[in-house]
Amino acid sequence: MNPWIERLAIQPKVGENGLHFTHSSGLAGDLVCAVLEAVAAARWNRLKACPDCRWIFYDHSRNASKRWCLMTAGGPDGRSCGSIAKVRAHRERARSSE
Ligand SMILES: [Zn+2]
Repeated sequence: MNPWIERLAIQPKVGENGLHFTHSSGLAGDLVCAVLEAVAAARWNRLKACPDCRWIFYDHSRNASKRWCLMTAGGPDGRSCGSIAKVRAHRERARSSE
C-alpha cells in the first residue's frame, strides 16, 4: 500500500467525520483513498473476498459475519454464492445423524 500512497501523492486530511485522503491522480487515487478511509475507520476487516466468485464486497452485517457476497453470479441461471457450501454442510449434517 505504501508505494501506492507515495506514487499517487496521497495526502491525509482531518475532517469533521474523521480522516480523509486527497490526491490528484484519477481513478487509481480514488480507489486507494477509499481503501485508506476504510482502514482509518477500522473497517478494513469488513472488506472481504467471496470464496465462490472472488468478488470483493463490503460486509454491512452488524457483527461482520458474512462470508459470501450473496450476489447471484452469472445472471438468473447462475448459482448463488454460498448456496453450494450451505447445501454441502446440510447434507453432511443429515448424513451424520443417520
Ligand atoms: Zn460471490
